[in-house]
Amino acid sequence: MHTPTLWDDTDRRNAVSGLRSLLRLMGTDPDSPGLVETPGRVIDALCEYADGGDTDVADLLKVQFDLGVDEIVHVGPVEFTSVCEHHLLPFHGVGHLAYIPAQGRVVGLSKLPRLLDHYAARPQMQERLTMQVADAICEHLAPVAVGVILRAQHTCLTLRGARKRDAEMTTSAMRGAFRDKPEARAELLALIGVA
Ligand SMILES: [Zn+2]
Repeated sequence: MHTPTLWDDTDRRNAVSGLRSLLRLMGTDPDSPGLVETPGRVIDALCEYADGGDTDVADLLKVQFDLGVDEIVHVGPVEFTSVCEHHLLPFHGVGHLAYIPAQGRVVGLSKLPRLLDHYAARPQMQERLTMQVADAICEHLAPVAVGVILRAQHTCLTLRGARKRDAEMTTSAMRGAFRDKPEARAELLALIGVA
């Protein structure tokens, strides 16, 4: 269940009232049996996307192990879901998260997917989400290289507007050796299978 943080009961009442107006704009009767609970459901569904946003990133990446690893560590594909900040419609896809440790320092396998979930858990732009994940890995692990590639379908593109049903958006953020050294980047892309 979502815990209210930034909003209070007044906001919820106002949101219900706004959604009732929206239902009327859509040509429906908000008091009809099927719709009377809909505003509350919409609020709960949208707030659910913000559920994971209170993770402390520094805490999440705090426990590091020195395994002497100096090659690529890659996790993926990992699924993620977010909501686009322009339309409040979901986008979902998969992410590839990779880095080359410095001084052999690595984090637990589940940490990077949780990092992605953390930044996905708010109204987002895929481009910004990609950069935020890469920059957080840079900041807290100080690795030799970071590569984050996200590929997602945006329902604001596939189900409405342009209605390009199969269109996917791919974004990448490369830092350190993945940005500066073509051979390191090529090895990463080959490993992910997008070369
Ligand atoms: Zn959108």
